[in-house]
Amino acid sequence: MCGFVGVTGVEQAAAVVWLGLQALQHRGQDAAGIGTVDGPRFHVHKDLGLVVHAIPSSKLADLPGQSGVGHVRYPTSGVNTREDAQPFVTRRPGIVMAHNGNITNVDEVTAQLQRRGIHILSSCDVEVVLMVLADELTRIAPSDHTAQDLVEAVGRLFGRVRGAYTVTCLLTVDGEETLVAFRDPHGLRPGVLGRRDDGAWLVASESVALDATGFRRHSFLPPGAVLLLRKGREPISLQVSTRTHRPCIFEHIYFARPDSVMEHGRVNQMRHQLGERLAEEWEARGLGADVVIPIPDTSRPAALSMAEHLGLPYREGFIKNRYSGRTFIMPNQQTRDAALRLKLNPIEDVFRDKRVILVDDSIVRGSTMRRIIKTIADLGAKAIHLAIFSPPVRHPCFYGIDMPTRAELVAADLDDDALEATLVTRFGCDSVTYLSRRGLARTTELPLCAACFDGDYVVPVSQDERRAIECDRRP
Ligand code: SF4
Repeated sequence: MCGFVGVTGVEQAAAVVWLGLQALQHRGQDAAGIGTVDGPRFHVHKDLGLVVHAIPSSKLADLPGQSGVGHVRYPTSGVNTREDAQPFVTRRPGIVMAHNGNITNVDEVTAQLQRRGIHILSSCDVEVVLMVLADELTRIAPSDHTAQDLVEAVGRLFGRVRGAYTVTCLLTVDGEETLVAFRDPHGLRPGVLGRRDDGAWLVASESVALDATGFRRHSFLPPGAVLLLRKGREPISLQVSTRTHRPCIFEHIYFARPDSVMEHGRVNQMRHQLGERLAEEWEARGLGADVVIPIPDTSRPAALSMAEHLGLPYREGFIKNRYSGRTFIMPNQQTRDAALRLKLNPIEDVFRDKRVILVDDSIVRGSTMRRIIKTIADLGAKAIHLAIFSPPVRHPCFYGIDMPTRAELVAADLDDDALEATLVTRFGCDSVTYLSRRGLARTTELPLCAACFDGDYVVPVSQDERRAIECDRRP
């Protein structure tokens, strides 16, 4: 889970990238970086923390140039060090690169590179992508690369590098400074292109980065194609590989900002539709309730649509503290409970003597949900019905969304009936209703990756690769 921005043809590229990265801060809070090109010189600054901490505004003057790329990082594997922050740079040929995604065959590609005398210095998989692109380009020609060379090199890269990735980079193509973007052949991870009337171009993980920087949405990045962008000229899109487009459904359910627009439409709209489908399925069960309450923030649109469909009041029952830090490792139950109250404090009166429908986007391990339900039961809720606007997560994601290993997924080995019985007992709630896979499919006509629900991995992942990725997951 990460976010990227790339821009060309603007007065001060670093400042534009910096603003765009702040709009994408929800995609990664552990590190941030910006790289710019100013004639023959590359300038890079990256560090740990939020964008404004990692790149103080005073640093922007040290990053001259009209083209730049930037990145916010949330590592799904490895550790979090400054060396692993993006962008990455190679001197020959000169490329500065950032990406969002996960490479599933990193070990295999690293070994291939090593056999060619090319060594990897970080545990960040974009370095592998960068070195493969540089390797392939220099095999084709030592310098003076053309658009055709780039297309050939990316085609070879698609053959060597498996997984899900959307990449942006800066390099010289046909003798011109060029902003390049390419997306894996299935387009698993998102990417959008924006334009400005003065001829500038911007690519980003989500359209909110365009809104924040004054760019208009032009199109979505084409899967399996290379896009070349230069100031004042139309984009050049060169198709390299044609496969079924299967963007990640989880972006819509949980990850992307609700005001972003993706191939399936506005994220907020999709969450409303998921809530309506869930309401229909909940209604068919014949359960009764007094009020619908979202667990903030992602579930608000779905909860609102559920409430409207069921003719029930919608209430905010939790106040989310935006300033508390990460609390994933807590030494005991007491501190874990305190950490939850710090992050998500319930409003007592909303729950007392009520039969509540509690709406959330997903259940992964289930540990946080258990504590939330205990807290509101203690406040005097008469009945707690949990409603989840996605199907059970039964399979881990190997394509760049941070999830625990399969063994830790609460739904991994249970069919629907056994799952509800298990969760009702474990959480102490009255019912658990998940959106069915059919209900999910009814919200979109486009094919999707939904492998974390159905195990249908669009890019095959071998057992060895699964083990390596799961081993690398952080606690
Ligand atoms: S497995 Fe799930 S989270 Fe991962 S890309 Fe596919 S839909 Fe998205």
